[in-house]
Amino acid sequence: MVDLQSQYQHIKADIDRGIQEVIDSAAFVKGPKVAQFQEHLEAYTGAKHVIPVGNGTDALQIALMALGLKPGDEVITPTFTFIATAEVVALLGLTPVVVDVNWETMNMSVEAVRRAITPRTKAIVPVHLFGQCAPMEELMALAKEHGLYIVEDACQAIGARYTFLDGTTRQAGTMGEIGCTSFFPSKNLGCYGDGGALFTNDDQLAAEMRAIANHGMVVRYHHDRVGVNSRLDAIQAAVLDAKLPHLDQYIAARQRAAAYYDRAFAGNEHLLVPGREKASTHVFHQYTLRLEGVDRDRVREALQQAGIPAMIYYPVPLHMQKAYQDPRYREGDFPVAEQLAGCVLSLPMHTELDDEQLAYITSNVLKAVEE
Ligand SMILES: *Cc1c(COP(=O)(O)O)cnc(C)c1O
Repeated sequence: MVDLQSQYQHIKADIDRGIQEVIDSAAFVKGPKVAQFQEHLEAYTGAKHVIPVGNGTDALQIALMALGLKPGDEVITPTFTFIATAEVVALLGLTPVVVDVNWETMNMSVEAVRRAITPRTKAIVPVHLFGQCAPMEELMALAKEHGLYIVEDACQAIGARYTFLDGTTRQAGTMGEIGCTSFFPSKNLGCYGDGGALFTNDDQLAAEMRAIANHGMVVRYHHDRVGVNSRLDAIQAAVLDAKLPHLDQYIAARQRAAAYYDRAFAGNEHLLVPGREKASTHVFHQYTLRLEGVDRDRVREALQQAGIPAMIYYPVPLHMQKAYQDPRYREGDFPVAEQLAGCVLSLPMHTELDDEQLAYITSNVLKAVEE
């Protein structure tokens, strides 16, 4: 699905130098490399504050802790997403309220969010699924109308750009009160282990989140609130700082591969290419097809025979996960998410795909759906 070895070979000298500097300095936790990467990421995203943390899941948890939500407060998330989004809501004793998604874009449905708002709703967590921003203009208007926070799950969408009706453009993760991202190796900006970051333009929230990520501590050994321990390693910061200058080029390589897939599959009765959010660019963390009138397992099997990996993101929506069984929800409640779970198939997507590989993949996909 990804080719991290080839990507490393292109920038090996920079990565190796950065890692060596960390080892020579012996500043493995915090220190200048993390500060340097933080500054560079602030400049890249336009976020006033970037707070590096241990991973994307921690980022989501710290965000919700910083907003001071209390047990029983409702947080709205899409049911078609990676589990982390709802996991932290449940861990904090908040009440996850799940909503359906849009069939074309696979992102959170604004109408579904509107219907899910109650007097107990405190926050909306839109997920910019597969690399394109959820409809932020509409979601932000809704949040404003009802006095809700927005915490963006931008773990799959770093570098995606959203253009508002007034012409302003903002990056994924920098539009809501708080944005969260992940540097897991296979993410669009991935390190060589775990990593994540929080984004905010609010000084007070930034201070709060820095303290929470550091055991709730501002003055050393004085703990004003309960926190966690969540840090980005300096070695990971060195890897990320070497990769960040290439991120736009990496995004362009993914978009080029996606355009190739789009062209190859256009008009095929069995293959629906990913629908696009009109106001967002798509950075293609995943290229996810919806299959129609074919047996997905058989297609996947045929691709596997040809040496082509294809993955199902995500086979089970949140409301049908065993750990998240809830008397409020049952099978059939979120028909779009359930239909997507049954028909999506993600193809190899990374920065190193060349025309020969793309031709091989697309011809095999077309063959597999005709059989
Ligand atoms: C990867 C991911 C996360 C979690 O990130 P980790 O760094 O693996 O903890 C959360 N939400 C979404 C949508 C993701 O894709």
